[in-house]
Amino acid sequence: MKLDSYIDAGVLASVGFANSLTPGYACGKPVTEIEVLEAVREVVAIDPPSVAAVSEDDADGFVALAQRLRAIFVGIDGGDIDDAAELLNNILSEHPAPPYLAKEEGVWHLHHHPASAAVLPMWTAICAEGLARMIGTQNAHRLGICMADNCDRAYADTSKNATRRFCSSACQNRTKTAAFRARKREAAATENKP
Ligand SMILES: [Zn+2]
Repeated sequence: MKLDSYIDAGVLASVGFANSLTPGYACGKPVTEIEVLEAVREVVAIDPPSVAAVSEDDADGFVALAQRLRAIFVGIDGGDIDDAAELLNNILSEHPAPPYLAKEEGVWHLHHHPASAAVLPMWTAICAEGLARMIGTQNAHRLGICMADNCDRAYADTSKNATRRFCSSACQNRTKTAAFRARKREAAATENKP
């Protein structure tokens, strides 16, 4: 998948944590049993050292992070960007992440977290910075909560026109199908009227 420059690993990880570590509904199904470590490893899979570093001790911290991230998506979805910005500023000040250059396989990359950071504070900083950049580049409207019935999962909209309103094509399709059926029922009811 080609990523737009403003949707970075931090934004995608924020969506991943918020969706896999908080209870609620996903595409019509309740999310209750959560395998925390398994879910965290899946979200940080783009960075193998993080996958290896995640341990039982980090579980509660990642769940707490996911709840904070989720609150930010909910706030933005409800139009309250000021609140979301304040929540992000709190996280950013708790986890300062000075930029530094690191050479990886001969190529310099700019990172925003200390190389020695433990896995939880590192991903906290990465997620907060990713979401903060969305707000700071006037792209907050690309973050939201799925509008399908029985779904409250977060999404980051990478589409050109920023018209996404669902967490997945599955939710989009079932919402379209439901609307189509409702129109058919309505049409049938009108026809049957004396
Ligand atoms: Zn959905």
